[in-house]
Amino acid sequence: VTTFAGKTVALFGLGGSGLATALALKEGGAHVIACDDNPARMAEAGARGIETDDLRKVDWSRISSFILSPGVPLTHPEPHWSARLARDAGVEIIGDIELFCRERAATAPNALFVAITGTNGKSTTTALIAHILREAGRDVQMGGNIGTAILSLDPPSDERIHVIECSSFQIDLAPSLAPTIGVHLNLSPDHIDRHGTIELYAAIKERLVTKAGLAVVGVDDAMSRAIAEACEAKGINVARVSIEPLDGKGVFADGETLVGVTATDAAPIASLSGIGSLRGAHNAQNAAAAVAVALALNVSPETIRAGLHTFPGLSHRMEEVGRLDEVLFINDSKATNADSTEKALKSFGDIFWILGGKAKEGGIEPLTSYFPKIRKAYLIGAAADEFARTLGSDVPHVHSGTLETAVMQAAADAQALGAPAVVLLSPACASYDQFPNYEVRGNHFRDLVRALPGLEAKGA
Ligand code: ADP
Repeated sequence: VTTFAGKTVALFGLGGSGLATALALKEGGAHVIACDDNPARMAEAGARGIETDDLRKVDWSRISSFILSPGVPLTHPEPHWSARLARDAGVEIIGDIELFCRERAATAPNALFVAITGTNGKSTTTALIAHILREAGRDVQMGGNIGTAILSLDPPSDERIHVIECSSFQIDLAPSLAPTIGVHLNLSPDHIDRHGTIELYAAIKERLVTKAGLAVVGVDDAMSRAIAEACEAKGINVARVSIEPLDGKGVFADGETLVGVTATDAAPIASLSGIGSLRGAHNAQNAAAAVAVALALNVSPETIRAGLHTFPGLSHRMEEVGRLDEVLFINDSKATNADSTEKALKSFGDIFWILGGKAKEGGIEPLTSYFPKIRKAYLIGAAADEFARTLGSDVPHVHSGTLETAVMQAAADAQALGAPAVVLLSPACASYDQFPNYEVRGNHFRDLVRALPGLEAKGA
């Protein structure tokens, strides 16, 4: 980024995106002073040529901007010490998305920029939009809160489309965020611990769409509907998205058919029927939002249909990893709470369910209405005893202990059924009692499944 050339900026948080930001600023001619509480990260940044220092010791009167990494608390539960120092010194506090926005404004103000937020479905929708646009032959740069940090992508230009996932933390640190198309999917009271109240959280999410050229807004929850109405009241062009047919302009699911509605016309665009990577009502919302974006960017319905069909889906989110005769194996390791697991239980029948790990509050109590679909449950990790009590005598279950044992047992039982069935890893738990993170857990599941004799592998 060139907009900070010659200026001195301070930065806190040298994780992936923080380091990428420091490097981009330095390359653009800024003087960067970076800091992190973690000495290993400080050392790595130092080795990459970044000046590191304790920000408590630097002269803040020389500093023009302070860059905070997303996830380092800005306000709640209390400001991080570095944010407090910046505020006391009267220095603006911004994040990497803001740097991108300023770069775009200065160098390529017409560069297309699609920004996506929401409590759930951000990554799926971002990846799907990027996939459809690539299918249409466009030059797409995808990243932000998913994959590559925004400042590690190719810079904005008139021929290129940036498709960027934004967390609420990133939006909060991007005062000049004004995307070509802003997508807000949904709101649920997640992350309020980080933003104080649901109203504050909603206000942050709303900022992504209220300055967009087109606001694509999911209207299936009341707070998001209020965001759509606020945009319309401000005269912003809004495309509504819903998993049921509605009045107004936008893209709506009618059963499995996505219908595009303009001021003058309502036309079926695509069917989600048989698309394994987009199963479930939640994915209908994600797909409808992606279709609304693609239509606004003049992608033809044929290309949109092709893109939906070839979308590989994201790993660890109801990911098909293989099939053995009539048994489908699904990796839903990202489901670390009952809410997410519910989406998977809703989407399948005759389930051989592998679950457990480090339980969240409330455990699997919210899932009891799905128990009749469970043929058998395989308990792993620390939550086994608690979950066994909830499953009770309604659901046959075994204490498998490890994922290895659970996969062997579930595969054998599901095959013995002799009818279509699903072996589903959807743990409803954090992974860290047995794995470093959900990705390692999901990769391990995929490897175990692919090692089963006779397995037909799916995906990459
Ligand atoms: P995010 O990036 O917002 O965390 P993902 O696309 O990674 O979202 O999906 C994570 C999980 O959230 C999925 O496994 C699914 O359980 C749930 N989910 C995805 N899309 C939606 C949606 N539109 N509404 C509600 N839940 C969703």
